[in-house]
Amino acid sequence: MIASFGGSGRPPTPRTARFTVRLAVLATTVALGAVGVAVSATPSSAAACNGYVGLTFDDGPTGNTGALLSVLRANNVRATMFNVGQNVQGNQSAARAQVDAGMWVANHSWNHSHMTSMSQSQMQSDLSQTNSAIQSATGVRPQLFRPPYGETNSTLQSVASSLGLRQVIWDVDSQDWNGASVSQIVSNAGRLQAGQVILMHDGIQNTRDAIPQIMANLNSRSLCPGMISPSTGRAVAPDGTPTTPPTGTPTTPPAGGGCTATATYPNVWGDRYNTSVTVQGAGNWTVVVAVTAPQKITTTWNGTASWDSSGYVMTMRSNGSGNTFGFTTMMNGNSGARPQIRSCTAS
Ligand SMILES: [Zn+2]
Repeated sequence: MIASFGGSGRPPTPRTARFTVRLAVLATTVALGAVGVAVSATPSSAAACNGYVGLTFDDGPTGNTGALLSVLRANNVRATMFNVGQNVQGNQSAARAQVDAGMWVANHSWNHSHMTSMSQSQMQSDLSQTNSAIQSATGVRPQLFRPPYGETNSTLQSVASSLGLRQVIWDVDSQDWNGASVSQIVSNAGRLQAGQVILMHDGIQNTRDAIPQIMANLNSRSLCPGMISPSTGRAVAPDGTPTTPPTGTPTTPPAGGGCTATATYPNVWGDRYNTSVTVQGAGNWTVVVAVTAPQKITTTWNGTASWDSSGYVMTMRSNGSGNTFGFTTMMNGNSGARPQIRSCTAS
C-alpha cells in the first residue's frame, strides 16, 4: 500500500481506484497517530502530501552524480536535474542514470555561459544543442530550462519558449554554491512553501549531506518532493498526467454541451503536428482538449487558451476569431497519440 502510493512511474490509476488508495492511507495515518510511538517508525512516504516542492540540482552530470542519486534514492526523493549540455555529452551514462533513478532532466545551457550577452541565434543553437544532447543520452526531451546564474531577458525567454522549454528560476537559493554549511542549507530549505522551487547543485558534498534533514523538515510540514510543471513552472504532484490517457482517434464530446467540436490534423512534421478544431452549434464556446504526456501544446491560435495544473489539459474559449481554432503539439517522443476533445460547451 505504502509502496504503491509513493511509487514512481506507475500507470495512471482510474479515479475510483485512486480514491480508494487515498482513503486507505488516511486511515493508516489516523490509526498510527492513535498509538503514538508507532508514528516515528512510519516510513516518510506514508505521510499525506499537503503540497509539493521542487528540489533542483544544477550543473551536472558530474563525477559525483552517482553519489547524489544514491542519497536521493535512499530518501525517496525525485528531483529535477538542470544539466549542462557538454557535461551530458561527456557523461551520457550519468545522465541516463538520473532518469533511471526517477529524476526529471532539464536544460541548463550548453556550457554555462552568461547567455544574456549572446545573440538570438547563439541562444537558439546553445539551447537546441543541449536539448539534443540530453535527448540522445536519455531519450527524454527537456521541457524546462534554467538560465545559468539565473540571468535572463525577454529574447532568451522567447527562444526557450520556441523550443518548447519553460523557463524556471528558483524561489529559494540553498547557497550551496556559496560554501553554505549543511545546517545552513537545511535552514534555507526550511523556507520552502508549497509550489516553490529550491536551487541546489550536483557535485557538492554538503548538499548531499543535507538531504536527509531537508526531507525530515519537509515531511514534518507535510510537503513532498514533486515535479515542476512545464506549463506553470510550479511544483506539482509527480504524476501530473491526464487521468484518462487520450489515445487513438479524436472523439466527439458528450451530448448536452450545446455544441460539437471536430479535430483534424492538417500538418504533421517529424517532431510536432498541428490540430485544427471546428466548432458547430455555438458562436461562443468553450472546448476542453487533453494531450498525452509527454506531448505538449506549444502554440495556439484563434482562441483564448488556459491550462490545468498538469499542463496537459487545455481549455480554449472563443475570442471572436471564428469557429475554428488550432494549436501545435510537440510530440516529445510520442508520435502516435492525438488530442482528445473532452467537451464542447456553448456559452
Ligand atoms: Zn548553474
